[in-house]
Amino acid sequence: SKKKVVLNADEIGRTLERMAMEINERHGDCSKVAILGIQRRGVDLAARLRKALETRLNKEIPSGILDINLYRDDWTSLEVQPQINKTEILFDIDGKEIILVDDVLFTGRTIRAALEAILDFGRPRQVELMVLVDRGHRELPIQADYVGTTVETRRGEHVDVFLTERDGKEEVCLVD
Ligand code: 5GP
Ligand code: MG
Repeated sequence: SKKKVVLNADEIGRTLERMAMEINERHGDCSKVAILGIQRRGVDLAARLRKALETRLNKEIPSGILDINLYRDDWTSLEVQPQINKTEILFDIDGKEIILVDDVLFTGRTIRAALEAILDFGRPRQVELMVLVDRGHRELPIQADYVGTTVETRRGEHVDVFLTERDGKEEVCLVD
């Protein structure tokens, strides 16, 4: 299999800083902002975003975790079904400006399921999406508000996301 580095460690760091700055610009003092990460690497990225915002603003930003997996019940079709395993939202989401965070955006089905889970919880004022990588191939009308990088992929390709705290190395690459 062939491998192409899309983001190196430095670029991942700068990309996250840039997105934190964009969020800061749009949300001002971020008094209503809360962050929700999607397991697993979305949670790692959400923690980094939270830290970047808290450092910039010198205040605490509420955050939580959504655990959503996609499973295929029929391997002959591309159809995938999202399964919501666990949600850990220990703050009141009513009136919040939620930043949903995931590592890779692909068909959009995970985000659709995440939105459903969030709206079951309460009434946020707004929900936005931040992803490190948009790899295209959307099957639903879902887009990200904050995009680290856009990578043209074929369906059969895969984007590997390695984060130091989980993987012991820091790199995003495209694998054939
Ligand atoms: P979607 O629901 O948009 O089809 O897929 C997005 C979810 O599946 C994300 O939670 C993401 O972690 C995972 N995913 C989809 N494609 C890739 C990929 O190429 N690389 C990685 N690392 N995760 C992917
Ligand atoms: Mg995922």
